[in-house]
Amino acid sequence: RQDLGKRPEWLKVKLPTGDNYTDVKNLMRRQKLNTVCEEARCPNIAECWNHRSATFMILGDTCTRSCGFCNVKLGIPNELDLNEPYRVVESVIELDLRHVVITSVNRDELKDGGATIFKECVRLIRERKPDCTVEILIPDFKGDENAFEIIMQSPPDILNHNLETVPRLYHAVRPQAKYERSLNLIRWFKSKGLKTKSGIMVGIGEKPEEVIELMKDLVNHGCDILTIGQYLQPTKQHLPVDRFVTPEEFRMYKEEGLKMGFKIVESAPLVRSSYHADQHARAIFSN
Ligand code: SF4
Ligand code: SF4
Repeated sequence: RQDLGKRPEWLKVKLPTGDNYTDVKNLMRRQKLNTVCEEARCPNIAECWNHRSATFMILGDTCTRSCGFCNVKLGIPNELDLNEPYRVVESVIELDLRHVVITSVNRDELKDGGATIFKECVRLIRERKPDCTVEILIPDFKGDENAFEIIMQSPPDILNHNLETVPRLYHAVRPQAKYERSLNLIRWFKSKGLKTKSGIMVGIGEKPEEVIELMKDLVNHGCDILTIGQYLQPTKQHLPVDRFVTPEEFRMYKEEGLKMGFKIVESAPLVRSSYHADQHARAIFSN
């Protein structure tokens, strides 16, 4: 049995430092923007921010859901900030991004779930930074097609929605989500002609055969890109790590995924949903 108290070598990361890192951090503070890089305590922050890439987290810093793995603050969110899209686009321009990933907390109390703010972000980036491709990592909007239609008023280049884990573990990992609903969301956007992407964590209690089944479901629902990474417990109050998945197992998922029909599979211990997202975008649009 693995010693779960000690991280294996393959999960060791650098401490965040460097001029670009400091620039990105100062920019986010000045623009009063949140990033999932910080909120989720992402292990890749040193690498990504030093390459001046970050994932914006819009719709505030407080989520209406309570996923067992997630470090984002739970509670009643503040009033919607209608100026947020303008600050996002300013930051995209200042960082001179060629690809941007925008995600959000869940805002189940809003009629459109925050879809209008996503749409505004994409619209403004198209207008003011047209050389930047846009990926949005959206919540499930409770499966509401009216919210999906709002997103399609200014569609992104890549539509990302994470399944996070296998259906057997949803009650603990994503208690307010539904596996089928998330799959159907991916199918809906694929049917509108978008490139689609999804991601999961492993090492949270799933079995390899269940991961393979999930991957088949995603391919069958039209998912183009898949990310798989190791779950790490953000604090002691979150779900425990079940096991450290070996680099060999990650490689096996990648090989199986490409055979199954995914166009891109990024599968390694430190992979997160937005890790190397700019490279995925370049690869998928160069084909
Ligand atoms: Fe941020 Fe994504 Fe990079 Fe993590 S992998 S630091 S969330 S851009
Ligand atoms: Fe975290 Fe997203 Fe779940 Fe909210 S919906 S708790 S932000 S993973």
